[in-house]
Amino acid sequence: MFTIDAHLDLSMNALEWNRDLRRPVSEINAREKGLTDKPDRGNGTVSLPELRKGNIGLVVATQIGRYVAPDNPLPGWHSPEQAWAQTQGQVAWYKAMEDDGEMVQVTDLYSLEAHVEVWRNNSLEKKPVGYILSLEGADSIVTVRYLERAYQYGLRAIGPAHYGPGRYANGTDATGKMGPQGLALLKEIERLNIILDATHLCDDAFWQALDNFNGHIWASHNNCRALVNHNRQYSDEMIKALVNRGAVIGAALDAWMMVPGWVRFKSTPKEMNCNLEVMIDHVDHICQIAGNALHVGIGSDLDGAFGREQCPYDLETIADLQKIPAILQKRGYTQQDIENMMHGNWLRFLRNAWK
Ligand SMILES: [Zn+2]
Repeated sequence: MFTIDAHLDLSMNALEWNRDLRRPVSEINAREKGLTDKPDRGNGTVSLPELRKGNIGLVVATQIGRYVAPDNPLPGWHSPEQAWAQTQGQVAWYKAMEDDGEMVQVTDLYSLEAHVEVWRNNSLEKKPVGYILSLEGADSIVTVRYLERAYQYGLRAIGPAHYGPGRYANGTDATGKMGPQGLALLKEIERLNIILDATHLCDDAFWQALDNFNGHIWASHNNCRALVNHNRQYSDEMIKALVNRGAVIGAALDAWMMVPGWVRFKSTPKEMNCNLEVMIDHVDHICQIAGNALHVGIGSDLDGAFGREQCPYDLETIADLQKIPAILQKRGYTQQDIENMMHGNWLRFLRNAWK
């Protein structure tokens, strides 16, 4: 079934993990044998051939570059300008993938419909993977005026926050409302009709953003606090508010966000019973709150600084997202519901945002 994944850190993998994503996952992993610089070495699940194999024809692909103040222990750049430069390298990689026929950028209704048509009807041997460019964490937007420059090279979604304190908004594990800069950024996001990604906003910033932003909001990769209690997850009230705004929430496949009690670098997916069924528990929770299956999709975050050691054990590569429709069917979802969750909800959202 045609599938949309609303959150993949493709350029980060290419440039920081040094993965040539045109190669098969098995080859990428084999080349990482013996490397110990990152905990997920040799455990990758994502590459462009695997996306094609899994009929995942459209993804939301990120740029990411954090700024850290001297007292911030998180990894990141020491100035916003360095973070901006990092994200420009990431854009250059996406453009090189376009030049090579591997990917194609989707930026508006016309390119969206044309791309969906290619995946629906075209028998091309190697279909280009469509991508909508998103920025995870806005620290690299040096000043609010930079956002229009980003729009010009195709940026169509932005999450103002990531982990910790942000220049515009505080994120996961942080607290506190946005100041004048954050509010000015929201205004500019709205003016440019860029989609606001509510994922990673801390609770204070989340509610403030909903009150101050009148454009289109989605949550690209977010699970439920009721099932795994952590500030990174959404409370039922937050889910309700997003549903009321017409948002779609992408279910994420990072094990610690799926099963309670996950201990990083210690727990294993098998012993924690972390499989794709658990993802459907989160999906189902959102559907129960919404009263329908119209507000949830996939935002897997696969290879977002974790690999097979920290994702469902019944997923070997991202192509295994194709196991999800059968599980949904077993849970009593209709064919229409399943198509909506695999791609239809994201498509409806985009068609509405770009009309
Ligand atoms: Zn994230």
